[in-house]
Amino acid sequence: MVASHTLLLAYAAPLALIWTWYLGRARRRESRSIAAREQAAAAGHAEPASLHPVIDTVRCIGCGSCVKACPEQPEHHVLGLIANKAQLVSPSECIGHGACRTACPVNAITLVFGSAQRGVDIPVLSPEFESSVPGIFVAGELGGMGLIRNALAQGHQAVDAIHRRRPKARPADELDLLIVGAGPAGFAASLTAKSHGMRFVTVEQDSLGGAVFQYPRAKLVMTSPVTLPLAGKLRFGQTSKEALLEFWQGLERRIGLPIRYGERVESIVRAGSGFVVRTTRGEHRVATVLLAIGRRGTPRKLGVPGEDLPKVVYRLIDPEQYAGQDVLVVGGGDSALEAATSIAEAGGRVTLSYRGDTFARAKPRNRERIAAAAKSGQVAVLFQSEVRRIGPTSVELSHAGREMEVRNDAVIVSVGGVLPADFLRKVGIEVETKYGTA
Ligand SMILES: Cc1cc2nc3c(=O)[nH]c(=O)nc-3n(C[C@H](O)[C@H](O)[C@H](O)COP(=O)(O)OP(=O)(O)OC[C@H]3O[C@@H](n4cnc5c(N)ncnc54)[C@H](O)[C@@H]3O)c2cc1C
Ligand code: SF4
Repeated sequence: MVASHTLLLAYAAPLALIWTWYLGRARRRESRSIAAREQAAAAGHAEPASLHPVIDTVRCIGCGSCVKACPEQPEHHVLGLIANKAQLVSPSECIGHGACRTACPVNAITLVFGSAQRGVDIPVLSPEFESSVPGIFVAGELGGMGLIRNALAQGHQAVDAIHRRRPKARPADELDLLIVGAGPAGFAASLTAKSHGMRFVTVEQDSLGGAVFQYPRAKLVMTSPVTLPLAGKLRFGQTSKEALLEFWQGLERRIGLPIRYGERVESIVRAGSGFVVRTTRGEHRVATVLLAIGRRGTPRKLGVPGEDLPKVVYRLIDPEQYAGQDVLVVGGGDSALEAATSIAEAGGRVTLSYRGDTFARAKPRNRERIAAAAKSGQVAVLFQSEVRRIGPTSVELSHAGREMEVRNDAVIVSVGGVLPADFLRKVGIEVETKYGTA
């Protein structure tokens, strides 16, 4: 009898220990998920940007496979288990990988665009990617399909369709195609147009790679293989932002793609059977247009003298590059606060200029970080201030009613952007607003 009790204890005690440890870990994870959900809600980030999972809580068995499968975890706390059910705890961090849906063993996940509170504008497209304006096509994330592989594949397919339909005779001064944007969709479209021998140009307001170029330094990129003309099979699975961009830049050089950087399309107007496309650097007469402009929009400018100096940028890529420099960050949202604190942490001397008098729109964590940086003297915060003029070595500002000049090596402007849906409407393209539907 004693022996059997000892035996039972010998087995039961380790099992009880393991069970207690398991429950403790699950509870800690749940608390972190609740905290992440509350933080997202408090910062007004409770709405997903576009494609995201909706979880059927009746079907969900709380296995957590979706949480483990999300490629953005643990860097971003996108999904979590709360009360033994999966939840999208940080909706604005979801970029629509869809790995959660594939991982769910009971089909409890559906991927949808937008939500009841926040609709997402998706252009209405034909199966060949043509918009409601004949001759204007759309590929990549703008059309609703995010992710690098999808954007590459769509850019390629859209140009194949345009090439199949091209008219035999057209005016000599008219290009076959103008591609707007050199992100993954525009890049693949450019390779395809080149492979067909089409007369085309690609215009890009910023840099090759689109959203990929804007990722933080050394970001881990998850993508899947795709075959492209002139490039063959791209076998990337998991890589870094830098490796992917270097590969694309190498291809661009080797193949000689006509990409015009620093040129932004401002309007597209019908002219005969084609279009006149006006850009910041002139105009192009074209038979067809492919919009591969993504969903991030065009950064809003300050509209002050000196803004065209090369030291002015609209997104922070690498804080380390500003070590030892005098940097002005303009804006009061999360991106501005994150830029200011990360540059200060990397050894830059930062002035943060904002025309409001509190950072009410930013996440609590960013507000705390900036308050700590201001207190320690790492960042000089100028509320109620506006930039008046940017010079090569200084910046003039008005601050609480008086003019001032600060030494300056670089300016980072983070004051929001013009959304692509506005651009589509201006061009006359029909858009459908999705409120949480596939
Ligand atoms: C932080 C983050 C992490 C991500 N991680 C991954 C990942 O790991 N794996 C993955 O598959 N996907 C990831 N994605 C999603 C992926 O980057 C996008 O789905 C993809 O880049 C979309 O490609 P695109 O060519 O459609 O648009 P974009 O990449 O947005 O490119 C659009 C281009 O058009 C240009 N443009 C816009 N308007 C104009 C204009 N008027 N005139 C001229 N040019 C213009 C822009 O400057 C930009 O270069 C991530 C996204 C983000 C934001
Ligand atoms: S994988 Fe499916 S069942 Fe498992 S937690 Fe996620 S939604 Fe629930």
